[in-house]
Amino acid sequence: MTLNDLRQTIKGRVVLRGDECFDEARKPWNRAIDQWVLAVVEAYDADDVATLVTYARQERLTVTAQRGGHRPSGDVDGVILLRTDRLNDVAVDPVTRTARVGAGATWDQVLRLASPHGLTGLVGSSATVGALSAVLSGGIGWFSRKYGFAANTVRAFDAVDADGLPIRVTPETDPDLFWALRGGGGDFAVVTAIEFDLQPAPKLYGGRMVWAADRASYVLDAYREVTATAPEDLTVWFSLLQPPDAAPSVAVEVTFLGEAEEAQRLLSRFEAVEGVVSDNRGVMPVEELGGICAEPIEPSPGLWRSELLTVLDDTVGQLLLANAKSMEPLTALQLRQLGGAVAVDRADGGVVPPLIEPFLLSMFGVPSDAEARRAVGAKMGEMADAFDGYVSGSKPYMCLAPGEDASKAFPEATLLRLRELKRSRDPHNVFRGNFPVLR
Ligand SMILES: Cc1cc2nc3c(=O)[nH]c(=O)nc-3n(C[C@H](O)[C@H](O)[C@H](O)COP(=O)(O)OP(=O)(O)OC[C@H]3O[C@@H](n4cnc5c(N)ncnc54)[C@H](O)[C@@H]3O)c2cc1C
Repeated sequence: MTLNDLRQTIKGRVVLRGDECFDEARKPWNRAIDQWVLAVVEAYDADDVATLVTYARQERLTVTAQRGGHRPSGDVDGVILLRTDRLNDVAVDPVTRTARVGAGATWDQVLRLASPHGLTGLVGSSATVGALSAVLSGGIGWFSRKYGFAANTVRAFDAVDADGLPIRVTPETDPDLFWALRGGGGDFAVVTAIEFDLQPAPKLYGGRMVWAADRASYVLDAYREVTATAPEDLTVWFSLLQPPDAAPSVAVEVTFLGEAEEAQRLLSRFEAVEGVVSDNRGVMPVEELGGICAEPIEPSPGLWRSELLTVLDDTVGQLLLANAKSMEPLTALQLRQLGGAVAVDRADGGVVPPLIEPFLLSMFGVPSDAEARRAVGAKMGEMADAFDGYVSGSKPYMCLAPGEDASKAFPEATLLRLRELKRSRDPHNVFRGNFPVLR
């Protein structure tokens, strides 16, 4: 059977090289990354997924599943790109506080249904990313300091295995695969739907405060003070922003699971920093969480690099501010406080190792062409070198960037177990995750 023949059996769309829409269909959300895939299959339902996997297995081809492609590796040459966008049903059960979410559904969809019940999921800064994709890569969310990684919340996966057979993966049916899918990426199966726990958020406070960039040192001082004693219900991020079309600024983004008065008390130190140019903090519905950081919603180009900081003392603070003064061509530097539940070693939690480092530092750039791309890459490298001695060298799996690999994200014993499982469950490499555990 040829790829062209698949058009007769797949209910969704099969797009092949030479088709007019091929170049558009193969693009990831992140337009800075190219995907030189063999074909694109847009599945209509779980049966389409099974048909494609069976075909790939027979023809010794490889499939990579993708909903959005927000942080793709680009490592997909010659692979069939399986789009799951249409598998986007979402159902929320307020009694059991669970959600059943199709592989192609976004966090936005989950939050809209969970919000009226005072429930939330462990969404991060962008609610346009796939909820399943976030779970498969670990998922650090606004409330992870209190509730852990999104991967820790899963109850069950519906998936298609390397023989093209539908499987239900729970701790009872398949403990090894259940472990691997919670944070180990897309190397082991194509997941068609997922069931996970929601968390209570009957009262939610959040928003963003912004100052001109010359206030950065004062805001950073306040940030260090507030985060030093922050309870796990409070999450505060610190961002240095230099967008191409606006003045440089410094911002803090916050969420608090609780009463507004308590949030204001915990955050009062920021109000002492003069010169606030905007402040939209307030009581907010869960479904607005994805808007706090004002991240792009439409597909756009972006390069990123993340490092886990082992400390945020005076020296590191000075380093950060010194680098921020000449951060061009980068557009943003962000610090996220970790700690709390993400630092806890959970025997039942899946693959994701505890993050014992107190802060995650991320750098971003928006390259418009190849030259800008090189400049962004060089600047991120230069900046990472500047923090040498203050970073651990490991990276959360969901933060890996093109050129980095899974060995940065997992302890050796975890990686060995993931590789063993890959060899036994997918010996013919029918599946490829964006950052494969085995090459
Ligand atoms: C602006 C922005 C903000 C972000 N903020 C956060 C954040 O706050 N917290 C956080 O944790 N992450 C964050 N991320 C990272 C993001 O969660 C991950 O990159 C996520 O994987 C991207 O979602 P996606 O829907 O584009 O995933 P996709 O690109 O669709 O999927 C990522 C990978 O998951 C696997 N996969 C996807 N679907 C399936 C499937 N059905 N079966 C098997 N494997 C599959 C594949 O290996 C795929 O390459 C952010 C990314 C961006 C661009």
